[in-house]
Amino acid sequence: MKLGLFARVMLVLATAANVEAQEMSAEVADNFVSDLLNTPGGVSKWVVDDELEASRRLGISYDGVLNKFLVSYDIDEETRDRVKNGTARVHRTLKNLDAGFSLLSLTFEPGGDDVEYYFRDDRLVSPIYYHSRDWRRFETNFFVFFLSDKSLFNNYGAEKLDAFVADVLDVIGVSETRRNKLKEAKIYYYLCGSSEEIRDLTSYNTRGMYNLAYDYIVSTYNCHYHEIVHLLVNFKLEKVSLYTHPFFQEGIAVALGGRGGKEPSIIRDVGMFLEQSQIAKYQDLLSYESFVATDPSLSYPTSGLYNAFLIDALGADKYLELYREYSGEKARVEVLESDLPTTDLWKSYLRTCAAAPTIVSGERDGDDCDPIYSDAQAKICEDTTRVYFEIGASVLLSGAETPAEFVSVVFKNHYPTHSYEGEKYLITADKNEISVYNLYTNNLVAKYVPAMLVQGSPIVVEDGLFYFSVDASVFDEALRATNIKILPTGQ
Ligand SMILES: [Zn+2]
Repeated sequence: MKLGLFARVMLVLATAANVEAQEMSAEVADNFVSDLLNTPGGVSKWVVDDELEASRRLGISYDGVLNKFLVSYDIDEETRDRVKNGTARVHRTLKNLDAGFSLLSLTFEPGGDDVEYYFRDDRLVSPIYYHSRDWRRFETNFFVFFLSDKSLFNNYGAEKLDAFVADVLDVIGVSETRRNKLKEAKIYYYLCGSSEEIRDLTSYNTRGMYNLAYDYIVSTYNCHYHEIVHLLVNFKLEKVSLYTHPFFQEGIAVALGGRGGKEPSIIRDVGMFLEQSQIAKYQDLLSYESFVATDPSLSYPTSGLYNAFLIDALGADKYLELYREYSGEKARVEVLESDLPTTDLWKSYLRTCAAAPTIVSGERDGDDCDPIYSDAQAKICEDTTRVYFEIGASVLLSGAETPAEFVSVVFKNHYPTHSYEGEKYLITADKNEISVYNLYTNNLVAKYVPAMLVQGSPIVVEDGLFYFSVDASVFDEALRATNIKILPTGQ
């Protein structure tokens, strides 16, 4: 390409302008604050184009919310009114950051919360946008991943997430057209490396969350199904309230997505125990106040199991009608028992759930069991439906393919001083519990805790070896002797 002298001079100037990143002026900051306080309808023009598009890309909107991109970043109405009528003053602090970014902090006096806004070249961006500006991107069918640290991510986990999304879209009945729309628009998933990093991005002390303003998933878990369910329910409903009764909102997220680090079946089993032992009953969680006053270790599994039942008993459409019914003004009321199926149906559902244990303690292999591994530390064999273990504290199983660059967080938590060599499953046993982890998704995929079973048999140990069997479907590839490794736990 040939350029004339004038064009070449302009190019040099433009390049120089890019290098000398533009600092935000006090005047521009004041104009933004004025729009924020006085003309909320005019704030969207401040938002950087790609984030405004991100906020709109899934077609999700919230009742009564003008500026979706400001959800959880906005100043409240009361503060706005107090500034307007002169009973509060706003102080602003402007700090220029690197690469053309600026940080505007607003403090309202007296009282009132502080708020912060990030800008790039005088346009509003989210803290997530700013803090992830140099992160690597990776695309799949349904996702764009933004990676703080490549070693936290692997393709297997990404494929699991794609398959999970496809399954949930089936369960909640999303049309082919909308499904294609999601594939095109993608779910943006920001994978963070630490709790400090996630706090920078979200301002919350959390392990993961669904950001409503931009429909981003921000998490320290590489397979955070629970938060994705929150997003997919909103995607299905399109026009939603910002608030839904937590019995349904958290219930469906647990029912279909488990909870951070634990697959749905694990949390539903806990719900089963809580119901059967009457430690927590779904009836106790129907009022908003009692739900939020109950520890999540009780309220989430119990509502999760009950919502799994509801989806089963009512079908997705009727279930989502109920979900919508208890949103908005009714998000904080008591759910009426008359809106729910009969307790007879619930009890028969509980009986069917109790039928199929994933892990059976003390179960020995039969004659038709194919031996996979045998030495003094462990014996493993499998038949068509179950894998039988006799192990000491733990055993590691490798997959056929090892993900490049990936380091499993769960492995590191169990073996802080060992180097990770691509092992896929970790199975641990002690006298209290037996656990199976998928180290590529970092999720607990099966667990047996006799203390949390109404009629559980104790964990059997003989000569220092724990005996149990695991449903073979827990492992998604054949186990081989060459891929089995024994390491002492915690060393
Ligand atoms: Zn949740």
